[in-house]
Amino acid sequence: MNMINPLELIQGVADRLFVNGQWVKPTSQNSLEVISPANEDVLFTYHEASTADIDLAVAAARDAFDNGEWPRLSPEERSKYLTKVADLLRERMPDLAKAWTVQVGAPIGLTQKLVGQQPQLFDYYADLAKTYPFEEERTRPDGNRTMVLREAVGVVAAITPWNAPMVLLCYKVAAALAAGCTIVAKPSPETPLEAMIMAECIEQAGLPKGVFNLVPAGREVGDYLIRHDGIDKVSFTGSTAAGKHIASVCGEKLTRFNLELGGKSAALFLEDADFAAALPSLMVYSMPITGQVCFSLTRIIVPESRKDEFIDMYVAAVANIKVGDPQDPTTLMGPLTMKRQLDRVQNYIESGKKQGANLACGGGVPANLNKGYYIEPTVFTDVTTDMAIAQEEIFGPVVSVITYKDLDDAVAKTNDTNYGLSGAIYTQDAELGYQVAKRIKSGNLSINGFVVDVTMPFGGFKQSGIGREGGVEGLDAYVEVKAIHLTS
Ligand code: NAD
Repeated sequence: MNMINPLELIQGVADRLFVNGQWVKPTSQNSLEVISPANEDVLFTYHEASTADIDLAVAAARDAFDNGEWPRLSPEERSKYLTKVADLLRERMPDLAKAWTVQVGAPIGLTQKLVGQQPQLFDYYADLAKTYPFEEERTRPDGNRTMVLREAVGVVAAITPWNAPMVLLCYKVAAALAAGCTIVAKPSPETPLEAMIMAECIEQAGLPKGVFNLVPAGREVGDYLIRHDGIDKVSFTGSTAAGKHIASVCGEKLTRFNLELGGKSAALFLEDADFAAALPSLMVYSMPITGQVCFSLTRIIVPESRKDEFIDMYVAAVANIKVGDPQDPTTLMGPLTMKRQLDRVQNYIESGKKQGANLACGGGVPANLNKGYYIEPTVFTDVTTDMAIAQEEIFGPVVSVITYKDLDDAVAKTNDTNYGLSGAIYTQDAELGYQVAKRIKSGNLSINGFVVDVTMPFGGFKQSGIGREGGVEGLDAYVEVKAIHLTS
């Protein structure tokens, strides 16, 4: 197995910011380390952007928006640039998969399958820009016309987490560019590589200078960015705690914001569900990327009458998951991404045991993996909805099995969470599944499987967020609506 060298993926721009169309040295001396989740070695170090660098990046994006050509190009012209970026990203898919695997610990077999969504998002918004109603004529009751315009909202601060760094950045950047916005992107300090690849592709595609700026940095510098007077919109994906803080900061100035936050999604099995048919999707989506995905199906809600049948099947399958080196193509589950994630997950496992849940499998560090942030895939049964493991986002491979008595109890238990991001309903009666889905307070639901489709709206009810990404709604997030009433 050839080991991945992360610095070979980014052609020497590792210690550079991309500001105003140039790769520049950060002015800060503050050095950040990217640690391998698989063996705890330092993969590489780089200097984070300083607040002075943020000022420069915001000024460049501001100038490109206020005075530059980008928002004034026709949607068709912007669309051509987006298509070029998509083509360049497609060529870099092997690098993007490796970057994801080496920084996050997601298995290479999985990242190679998933990276196609990244150019797909650029293709999708390139197409949508050509038909989106940027300028729409309507007739008023008095017979006169009103032009309804959808104008780019302005300079966007795009802030992304570490678990799926590139696809989450593509949702924001592709839609914001299609709308005519300019961007200052701040990726998570633990995973800067993909954003650097994106900046390289945007540079090669020839977008005007200042339209896309990249400033990898930590939380404090990010906080400076969201408070910046030059920012018109904050588009944030990350934890609910940080999202609440960002909403309050934006609220002071009425800076526009979108929040994609945490989740505690459920797989709800109705009485008639075919467990065996459901197992493949459950195995992929109950613990994807070692459970570090916002839409993971971390609560499994099953009928009391069929509890043993379900647990026997699911626990046997989970106990068979091959945990190991994420660069090995036969690995199904890699490590957690960082030490603080391992500590967090172990604390929740302890809390589950203390609160009386039954540890059906896992719970420890795999015996043969004593370096790296590995944890066994873990299933708790006899979980009640008041337990912390049933309520809080663990962000690790820890699933709670919860039972119900009847359909109303099932719906109540599924909705008994502060989150509302995703979910799945399994039943042999598709119409019943649809009716039950309508009763679940969640932004995304799949019936008999699990669908992730970037061309459809994605986002949360309740504390899982505000706004939507993906689909037409993802472009709506980057426009202001203006009505111009004509009188003749
Ligand atoms: P986090 O909130 O700690 O950080 C996310 C990003 O925000 C990072 O870039 C971080 O540096 C930055 N940040 C944090 N505080 C900030 C502040 N005050 N001002 C500006 N920037 C700030 O989250 P994380 O640990 O990186 O990611 C995990 C979380 O992300 C989980 O809760 C997960 O559910 C959520 N997530 C949600 C979605 C979604 O689409 N709903 C997708 C992936 C991850």
